[in-house]
Amino acid sequence: MCREGHAAYDLRMTFANFVGGSWVPSESGATFENRNPADTRELVGLFADSTTQDAAAAIAAARQAFESWRLVPAPKRAEILFRAAQLIAARKEEFARAMTREMGKVLDETRGDVQEAIDMTYFLAAEGRRLHGQTAPSELRDKFAMSIRQPIGVCAMITPWNFPMAIPSWKIIPALVCGNTVVLKPSELTPLSAVHFVQVLEEAGVPPGVVNMVTGGPAVGEMLTTHPDVAVVSFTGSTAVGRLVNQNAAPSFKKVHLEMGGKNAIMIMDDANLELALEGCLWGGFGTTGQRCTAASRVIVHERVHDRFVEQFVARASALRVGDGLAAATQVGPSISEKQLQKVMGYVEIGVQEGATVACGGRRLTDGPHAHGFFHEPTIFTGVTPGMRIAREEIFGPVVSVIKCGSADEAVAIANDVAYGLSASIYTQDVNRAFRAMRDVYTGIFYVNAPTIGAEVHLPFGGTKATGNGHREAGLAALDVFSEWKSVYVDFSGKLQRAQIDTESV
Ligand code: NAD
Repeated sequence: MCREGHAAYDLRMTFANFVGGSWVPSESGATFENRNPADTRELVGLFADSTTQDAAAAIAAARQAFESWRLVPAPKRAEILFRAAQLIAARKEEFARAMTREMGKVLDETRGDVQEAIDMTYFLAAEGRRLHGQTAPSELRDKFAMSIRQPIGVCAMITPWNFPMAIPSWKIIPALVCGNTVVLKPSELTPLSAVHFVQVLEEAGVPPGVVNMVTGGPAVGEMLTTHPDVAVVSFTGSTAVGRLVNQNAAPSFKKVHLEMGGKNAIMIMDDANLELALEGCLWGGFGTTGQRCTAASRVIVHERVHDRFVEQFVARASALRVGDGLAAATQVGPSISEKQLQKVMGYVEIGVQEGATVACGGRRLTDGPHAHGFFHEPTIFTGVTPGMRIAREEIFGPVVSVIKCGSADEAVAIANDVAYGLSASIYTQDVNRAFRAMRDVYTGIFYVNAPTIGAEVHLPFGGTKATGNGHREAGLAALDVFSEWKSVYVDFSGKLQRAQIDTESV
């Protein structure tokens, strides 16, 4: 990260923090660069390199705004959010293009990312007219019992770079509709899409202080996870950082929602429609350059169809066109950063050392249109056994490990035998096999005859084991992260009625 005084740069490309309803630079005056991973000669913008004081100011603004925002009727809060959804929809193309420039994934996919933010905003804004609680009969006469959702307070959101608008929306919209206020710290690799999202919320009429954004690195994140005025931390990122976030937030008993890494498997049975499975593996393994938490980085193939599948999978993966995500022909964009690319290359080396075979790819691309970006060939390892590191650890790049199995039960056992539990899928024509696998694979998401990616916003999203800590985002489950239940009893008997002691005679 390069630190510079931002005055030296074109001010139109310099982006500030959003605190208490104003766009303000970091108190330090420092900025960091955001460059296009497809061509690092291109500067996308300069962003506030925030300090812990900036983070504290944002938390204070959110704390103050909470007292009025929590009292705005939820249907009114929703009206503002519906406006935001309309504004994002109107700028979808502009936001998608900007996102490809900062994140690298192909334009179709960044359009999908923005669409996900639109869908999530419409879906959860509608909860402003529901936010249902329960009413229940009381065990005592002349007494009323109900439970209601209550906002919690200041919610800190720490997000990664691979879904730069969708993931902030998954967190911010449910938090707002429930009546909380927000401080967002987006990834330092993709802050522009977060700026766009926050600009839209401002324009839609979200009052000052209700949404705040502080760009910067881990120090800002640490402040958000330790500050006593933050009540909820919602984090999406790597398992290693998620563990730190959890530890840092524990002493002050914050509610912590973690969405972390994955090592997702597609299982292909001997009765599968192989053409369908091939398409699924190409999209699941190499879509978003393998940089999805739900990416299918393991393909577990029945021995009876293994060789036939591998032959075609290798041929098709070798033909994928790697390049700038803005070019119409491109199917696979760059890795997000030099560091991420080095990680990919490191795992290719590990796979070779472990005795797996590089069936295609395996090298960085550096010539011609690839000279200034972080490009890598789509890579398939065969001869992979479940104990190898390339079969167990998250690589987060265009690398897929093919593992042979002898039965559906073995495939399920291999799928389950990793630390993570985000997504899995099975290709089979046998309904019994499909249902057994659906029941027995221990993940938060499961697909039949589709790849491991492709979640829809109105269903819960999240994982088990080292992928998550029991919460879910999206769907109505998101409301459980950002609200607390209050049980309310109203006694209209005019006398003391003691629960469990004063029993009713009928
Ligand atoms: P990362 O863990 O490196 O960073 C995530 C965020 O945490 C960034 O904003 C970063 O600045 C911040 N951060 C870093 N150190 C911190 C600290 N000490 N305290 C607080 N915040 C800190 O992850 P990444 O490289 O941005 O994203 C890739 C990872 O995200 C992958 O592991 C991927 O599987 C995961 N991911 C998970 C999901 C999911 O829903 N399960 C979705 C997308 C991505």
